[in-house]
Amino acid sequence: MAAKKILIIEDEPDILEVLSYNLKREGFQVVTALDGDKGLNLVRREKPDLVILDLMLPGMDGVEICSTIKNDNELMSTLVIMVTAKGEESDIVLGLGVGADDYVSKPFSPRELVARVKAVLRRGLIIDASGGKEKIECGALVIDSARYKVMVDGEEVKLTATEFRILQYLASNAGRVFSREQLLNKALGDATVVVDRNIDVHIRGIRKKLAIQPPVIETIRGVGYRFQELTG
Ligand code: CA
Repeated sequence: MAAKKILIIEDEPDILEVLSYNLKREGFQVVTALDGDKGLNLVRREKPDLVILDLMLPGMDGVEICSTIKNDNELMSTLVIMVTAKGEESDIVLGLGVGADDYVSKPFSPRELVARVKAVLRRGLIIDASGGKEKIECGALVIDSARYKVMVDGEEVKLTATEFRILQYLASNAGRVFSREQLLNKALGDATVVVDRNIDVHIRGIRKKLAIQPPVIETIRGVGYRFQELTG
């Protein structure tokens, strides 16, 4: 398999250098940009597999770049990890709202970021490979999309149509964090019926009916929800 290409857009040269060094050491091809405009040009020219995108940049900022990538038919499959300032939950929500695939908060260790890059690339591949995946299994839980059925320990659990869509969407993107707004738009966006727009209510319903401990859907405080990373 060809080396995956990573573009780092970051205006702090020290961070850029450390990240670049660590990613190259792991066998990635690395391209870098110190400002937003150059960064976006490189996304178009170099077609990286993944972009590590700092939120605060001179020129075009991270949110604008991410939103441009995710709204461009040719670029939208580019994976984006947003780098946000320390503890700024509003930044995280903003990043996820424009389609970032994951985020890391400063300060982070190069090792942490490399692990995150690998996880996002792996997840990207799984989603590609399982586009029409009909059955998702996670421990005692089986989600059978073809039959519109959810089983726990072999027993069918009756979910509402809305609960089913949310669970299926989260499970198909296991390990990835979604804001409430994203779940509304992506999981329920094309629902033909009017549904309760309070995502929290649906998540509570799913958890109660599945009765799995710890819950397969985790709450990410201040951000949204995540289906636990599937293993094996
Ligand atoms: Ca910056």
